[in-house]
Amino acid sequence: ESLPGNDKNVYDWSSEEEEPDGRARPVQVLLVKDDHTFELDEAALSRILLAEEVRDREVVAISVAGAFRKGKSFLMDFMLRYMYNHASEDWLGNADEPLTGFSWRGGSERETTGIQIWSEVFLVDKPDGRKVAVLLMDTQGTFDSQSTLRDSATVFALSTMISSMQVYNISQNVQEDDLQHLQLFTEYGRLAMEETFLKPFQSMIFLVRDWSFPYEFPYGQEGGMKFLEKRLKISENQHEELQNVRKHIHSCFTNISCFLMPHPGLKVATNPHFDGRIKEIDGEFINNLKVLVPWLLSPRNIDVKEINGSKITCRGLVEYFKAYIKIYQG
Ligand code: GDP
Ligand code: MG
Repeated sequence: ESLPGNDKNVYDWSSEEEEPDGRARPVQVLLVKDDHTFELDEAALSRILLAEEVRDREVVAISVAGAFRKGKSFLMDFMLRYMYNHASEDWLGNADEPLTGFSWRGGSERETTGIQIWSEVFLVDKPDGRKVAVLLMDTQGTFDSQSTLRDSATVFALSTMISSMQVYNISQNVQEDDLQHLQLFTEYGRLAMEETFLKPFQSMIFLVRDWSFPYEFPYGQEGGMKFLEKRLKISENQHEELQNVRKHIHSCFTNISCFLMPHPGLKVATNPHFDGRIKEIDGEFINNLKVLVPWLLSPRNIDVKEINGSKITCRGLVEYFKAYIKIYQG
């Protein structure tokens, strides 16, 4: 048995979708416990995705995944700002406003491995007139030891299977072990899915944080694509293992892209009192955030989740989530 106190708190906290004041909040729907078993909060998942306004809508599921303390939740909170204000030019809002949403400040958070979803599913009008439901998922993994790597692989695999867009958040560069991890994670996912002639997953975005070679490959999506092409290139004189990792990644995703983000500045990275206000974040980071977030989330760019070529509704997503988790529970 794991420590009763700690796990209980996390579980209780997730059984109500709203803060007492009625605001939306993150809800832990999947939790990896200390004994490496998985717990799916089916009730919470159903309350959110089976709400009358959204359950029969086609779903866009956006996930951010990667190791701890690399700025995932921080980014998610800007994604939330965009979702709440995207009709407006200055969706980033007031320069003095603290950043809220998914919990992102170091120290204060217990290092849970799992998946959190935002309790509010956003209804968005696509330019073609269809109204779709947008779900935001924040995932956490540790990646630091063999035992937690397996947990993280499962979380990453599940979030990739469930999402229409997986943002793989990595620090500074795309290293060979980032690619190896991705191969392991997607192999976990692929094994759990039915064989089809289609690629099993949709969009994969490598998001490189603290990119420090803009003179080689400029910040943003174009620089990212050129950089990634070079990194994922397969050549004859490469070791077979390197070739296989690359072939595998290409075979898994319908779309692969990359975005290079600058460092947000020392206040963000090191000041424990920093509360997320834009005023204290480097201008270069903000400029790229203004490109990145609409590129990921604008109504014209978001894609509905498809499984085996069929579009999935929120209701369908709940069923897949339950079916996939069963496979890993063995
Ligand atoms: P997560 O564990 O990946 O969700 O990371 P968090 O979003 O909780 O952020 C962890 C710490 O990194 C916080 O102190 C943030 O202020 C800081 N941080 C956020 N974004 C960045 C970034 O792009 N670069 C760096 N170096 N730090 C960041
Ligand atoms: Mg986080």
